[in-house]
Amino acid sequence: MLQETIARVRAEIEAADLATAEQLDQFRIAYTGRKGQLADLFDQLKTVEPTDRRAVGQELNQLKQLAQARFEERQQQLEAGAANAPADPTFDYTLPPVPQALGTRHPLSLVREEIVRILARIGFNVAEGPEIEDDWHNFTALNFPENHPARDMQDTFFVKSGGADSAEAKAPASYLLRTHTSPVQVRVMQAQQPPIRSIMPGRVYRNEAISARAHMMFHQVEALFIDENVSFADLKQTVYYFVQELFGDDVQVRFRPSFFPFTEPSAEIDITCLICKGAGCNICKGTGWVEIGGAGMVDPAVLEQSGIDPERYSGYAWGMGIERITMLKYQIKDLRLFTENDTRFLRQFESLL
Ligand SMILES: [Zn+2]
Repeated sequence: MLQETIARVRAEIEAADLATAEQLDQFRIAYTGRKGQLADLFDQLKTVEPTDRRAVGQELNQLKQLAQARFEERQQQLEAGAANAPADPTFDYTLPPVPQALGTRHPLSLVREEIVRILARIGFNVAEGPEIEDDWHNFTALNFPENHPARDMQDTFFVKSGGADSAEAKAPASYLLRTHTSPVQVRVMQAQQPPIRSIMPGRVYRNEAISARAHMMFHQVEALFIDENVSFADLKQTVYYFVQELFGDDVQVRFRPSFFPFTEPSAEIDITCLICKGAGCNICKGTGWVEIGGAGMVDPAVLEQSGIDPERYSGYAWGMGIERITMLKYQIKDLRLFTENDTRFLRQFESLL
């Protein structure tokens, strides 16, 4: 009697239509649930003759496993189908993808980071200072005396507080946008005693008309080394190392005598033209050399004003424009390209990352 019921229920379970989630739920309630037919059949097991009970029990267990297997298989199929179903049934999967535009690093950032890496390898750390600087750090401490004609060498943006008609605005300005990164050298010397081995990368400002060759805002990096017995030979070796690391082993360096208020002696640094390899072209105006920066031994008066004993210590300083280096390294001919944010220009540096 019970065996006949089991056979009928088995046939029902095997034939059940489980197309939808509703049908699957009804199946669970009707067969495998706590009040379903299987639970009922297990209850009836006690009415079976003891001799048959074991065999019928096994048959019931197999039926229960069959029902659970059908239920779980279909449940997984339905869940997977729901996960893959499009949120918007009208979405066209054949459309080409929209490319994800990744930003690139700016060529000036790439070159600045390269310069920092090269000099960090020989022990230079990075120092920073304010872009709004006071007159003393930008000029006086660096040997530009009041009314000295050297101050006219740099056209300066002065910064005043207060409204246009206020008393502060009419008084002479004591703050300015730094015209070079050298005031950071002064700040480093004021803050620590030698040995000092620092580089100062940063943005500087000059009151200039913007053209292919000049800008009112650009970047410099300077290196300062102060210790006992530092000589011009140390300066030359550091510059040779730096140029060869940045531009390659076959690039030559030469020093030309020059003048800066804060170094004595002073020199300009030239390297062999990267375009013509020294043969002469229109970039180097036929000379085979291009200037990359200035250098010199720190003037003893600058050391003294910054709180360092010039009788005991000496040091060198050298610096260059990051735009200038970048233009030489990548043969960029117009300074304005750096600030125009034209992605056709900027994207060319992707492959250099
Ligand atoms: Zn050349």
